[in-house]
Amino acid sequence: MPTVNQSNQQARNVNRAQAERLGVLGVASASYGLDTLWLAGFAGLGTVPAAVPVSYALAAGCATGFFLVAFIRAWNLRLSDPHLAAPQLVVGYLLQLLFLAVVPQLGVLFLANMFVVAAFGALVLTLRHFLLAWLLVSLATGLVLFMVGDRLGIPVASRAEQVVVWLAFASFLGRASLLSSRTTHLRERLRIRNEALRASVSQVQRLAQVDELTQAWNRRAILAHAEDARVDAEACGAPLCVAMLDLDHFKAINDRWGHLSGDRVLSGVAGRLMAHLRHTDRLGRYGGEEFVLLLPGTSLGEATAVVERLRRAVAAGDWEEGVPAVTLTLSAGLAELAAAESVESLLQRADNALYEAKRRGRDRLVVAGALAAVDPG
Ligand code: GH3
Ligand code: MG
Ligand code: MG
Repeated sequence: MPTVNQSNQQARNVNRAQAERLGVLGVASASYGLDTLWLAGFAGLGTVPAAVPVSYALAAGCATGFFLVAFIRAWNLRLSDPHLAAPQLVVGYLLQLLFLAVVPQLGVLFLANMFVVAAFGALVLTLRHFLLAWLLVSLATGLVLFMVGDRLGIPVASRAEQVVVWLAFASFLGRASLLSSRTTHLRERLRIRNEALRASVSQVQRLAQVDELTQAWNRRAILAHAEDARVDAEACGAPLCVAMLDLDHFKAINDRWGHLSGDRVLSGVAGRLMAHLRHTDRLGRYGGEEFVLLLPGTSLGEATAVVERLRRAVAAGDWEEGVPAVTLTLSAGLAELAAAESVESLLQRADNALYEAKRRGRDRLVVAGALAAVDPG
């Protein structure tokens, strides 16, 4: 079920889309208004009767009026084509074809005006619908052209008529160009939105993999990385070491300084650990104050040195402002992936070694297998 916020957002999106549709309808009305002007120009010159611009304006006005009501009443939202693109285009093309048939002496202008209608279509139609519309309109235009025959014309007998023809063409060209640039603008806006969406998705993916307090990988992510590292190590025959790290007597820090200070110490320790790692190493929070460290391509000898360095860095740390004398130590268990070993088994061996480190007095590293303790120094 959507939350109240989601419903509000949906309502805002619908309102914005309706406002955009009304905007496009407004531009279409203005475009019909311009057509009426050049038709009125020819009526004024006596090329066509006054009924021509009047009936054109009436037909266009009735159609846009109907679409206006449909948008205001939100009837369009119930349809699969909420832009009412198809009916608006049908009206646009039909009007041109009808007037081409009835007023063929202006026929070339109505033919040219079809490019303006097509430019409106480019704003909303998918390629498939665009091609379908092109096919149907081309067929219909062919029919009307056969009907009209040699009566098709362009009125250029007088200088005044030539001027109106010129103005009409200029307005077609202007409208078609403006609508094309609007299409480019919409595409650009879509591209920017897509980029923002991609950035949000990768941010969400990152948040889903990162532990909020420590910024280390969370348990699910580090286990997935461990499995990937195991597969890589097996494929390349490279070594893979895993260490389990657990802070010593951490409960005492919470008890003494409070849980919030404990949190800050914990995130400080994780930051310090990560600062000491190579970019191929990965640190994950396994639970509470226990971490898993993946060291791909690292032999047991090198890994021992790395973990020892981390252990010393933690012990030397100055952990919390206002909480002096927080001495913190770390115990670690280290294991190297054996042939055909699973991640579970590898982690279990590292965990056993960690347990042994705790048992032997903490603040030390124990290497699994031989269970050889490395003396703290
Ligand atoms: P040791 O590991 O040396 O045996 O002793 P410990 O006190 O660290 O014991 P243990 O690992 O069993 O307990 C972990 C403690 O860490 C318990 C809990 O109070 C604390 N802890 C775990 N997660 C958090 C956390 O997110 N924030 C804080 N402040 N404390 C945590
Ligand atoms: Mg502990
Ligand atoms: Mg613990």
